[in-house]
Amino acid sequence: MEENSVKTQKFIIKYFTEIMIKGETAKRQMINQLFFNLQRISNNISSDIKIKKFFDKIELVCPSEFSDNLREKLLETPGIQQVLEAIQIDNMHTLDEIKVEVNKHMAKTIEDKTFVVRAKRVGKQDFKSTHIEQTVGGYMLAHNKTKGVDLKNPEVTIKVELEHAQLNIITKKHYGLGGFPLGTQGEVLSLMSGGFDSTVASYLAMKRGLKTHFVFFNLGGVAHEIGVKQVSWYLWNKFGSSHRVSFITVPFEDVVSQIFKDISAPYMGVMLKRLMLLASEKIAQNLNVDALITGESVAQVSSQTLKNLRLIDDVSNILVLRPLSFMSKPDIIEIASKIGTKRFAEAMPEYCGVISQHPVTNGSFTRVEKESKAFDYSVLEEAIKNAKVKNIDEVLDDVCKVGTLEVVNNLNESDIIIDIRQSSDTLNAPCKVLKIPFYDLKKEFKKLEQDKTYLLYCDKGVMSQLHGQYLKDEHKFENIKVYRPK
Ligand code: ATP
Ligand code: MG
Repeated sequence: MEENSVKTQKFIIKYFTEIMIKGETAKRQMINQLFFNLQRISNNISSDIKIKKFFDKIELVCPSEFSDNLREKLLETPGIQQVLEAIQIDNMHTLDEIKVEVNKHMAKTIEDKTFVVRAKRVGKQDFKSTHIEQTVGGYMLAHNKTKGVDLKNPEVTIKVELEHAQLNIITKKHYGLGGFPLGTQGEVLSLMSGGFDSTVASYLAMKRGLKTHFVFFNLGGVAHEIGVKQVSWYLWNKFGSSHRVSFITVPFEDVVSQIFKDISAPYMGVMLKRLMLLASEKIAQNLNVDALITGESVAQVSSQTLKNLRLIDDVSNILVLRPLSFMSKPDIIEIASKIGTKRFAEAMPEYCGVISQHPVTNGSFTRVEKESKAFDYSVLEEAIKNAKVKNIDEVLDDVCKVGTLEVVNNLNESDIIIDIRQSSDTLNAPCKVLKIPFYDLKKEFKKLEQDKTYLLYCDKGVMSQLHGQYLKDEHKFENIKVYRPK
C-alpha cells in the first residue's frame, strides 16, 4: 500500500441505452430500481462496498479483495450497458502528483505502442483538462519506451477523470448484459422443464426486467426434479438475486396416468401442455403474476407447430409469452452455453418420453375439444391443490437432501476440506483445509493430488453439491464428497 493516497477498485456503471432514451419519469424510476438492485447485490458481497447514484451513472467503490466478485455480479445484472473499471486515487491536487500516479499505473500498457491521454475534469483547479493531457502525456512519453504520442489513431487511449481532488484512471471497459433493471417490467411465471429452451427463455425474461418465478410439473423423476431446481436456482442466483421469487412444484404424476387413461395417443402431448397451462394460469393468479413464459419455439419439434401452439393456448386466457418462438436451436444452445445453463441442460434426465411419441402435428380444434371432455379434471384440481410453493432460496435445501454426492458430517484428522465459499474467511477445522472459492474450483481442482479424497464445504452444502456434481459429471472426478457439519 502506498502512503498518503487511498487506493480502491472502482466500478462505473453506464445505463442500458434503451433506459437513456426513456422519458424523465420512466428513466428515473428505472435508474432508482437499478440502484436498489445493485445495493442489494453489493451488500450480499460486502457491506464495505460504497455505492452512489448519478443521473448518467452509478459508481461502486469496493475494497480490492471483493472486486473480482463484484465485477462478475455487475456483468450479470440486467440494466447495465457498460462497466468501466477505474483506479481511484484521492488527494490529487497538482499536475505533478497526477502525472506520477497515472504513469505508475499505466506505464505497462503503453510499452512499444502509440498512445494518447484523454482527460476530463470537474472542480476548481488552476489548470485545464488539456493541461492534464499534455503534462501526463509528456511525462509518460519521457519515462517509457513507446512508439510516441498519436492524437488521431493511438493504439492505447489512457482515460483519466479528475473530480475535485479525486483522480479516476479508467483501466478497463466491459459490456454489460443490457436489458432493463429487474423489477421494472412486472412479474411472470416461467414453465421450467430445465432443458436448453426453458432456461434460455427464463434468462431472456429476467434480462428484460421481468421478475421471473418458476413452476415445475413433476412427471415422476427425482433426478429431473433436482435438476430443474438446481438450474432454476442457478439462473436466479446469477441474474435475479436482487428479488425474491417463488419456485412451485406441481405433482403431475397422477395427471399423466389420467392422460394415459382418458386421451388417445396422438393428443396426449397437446393435452399435457394444455393441462400444464391451466394449472399455471391458476398459480399465476394466486401469485398475482401477469403472464406465463415457455420455451416453445415454432417448428422446433413436430409437436410445436403453429396449429398445436394455438390449440395449447386456447385452453386459457392468460398471456403466454414464448421468447424463443423464432429462434433456431443452435442460437438457443449458444445462449445456454454463454449463460452457463448448457451443462445443466445436457445433464437433465429425459422424462415421460412415451407421451411425445408420434404426436399429432396438425391437431384439430374439434378433436381436442372432444378429447378434453373425456378428461377427469378432478385429478388436475388435486394436483394444483398439492402444489408446493417455496422461496427459490429454499429449494436447494431439498436438493441437499436428495443430492447425489456423499455427505460427511464428522471429520477425521486425515480429511482434506476445500472451503469453496467466496468470502475471504476460511473454515476452522481439525484437519487440513484448502481455500478454493467455487469460481476457481474447476481450474484448481485438477492441480490437486488425485489419489486423495476432498470434502467440499460451503454455507449450506448446496453449492458444494452443485459444484461437486459438476466436477464429477463434466470432468470425471470421483474423489469428491460434501462436508456438512451437523
Ligand atoms: P426444454 O428445452 O425447455 O426442456 P423441450 O425442448 O423439452 O423444452 P417441450 O417438452 O415441448 O420442449 O416443452 C416445451 C416447453 O413447455 C418447455 O420449454 C417448458 O416451458 C414447458 N414444459 C415442458 N415440460 C415441463 C415441465 N415438466 N414442467 C414445466 N414446464 C414444462
Ligand atoms: Mg424445446
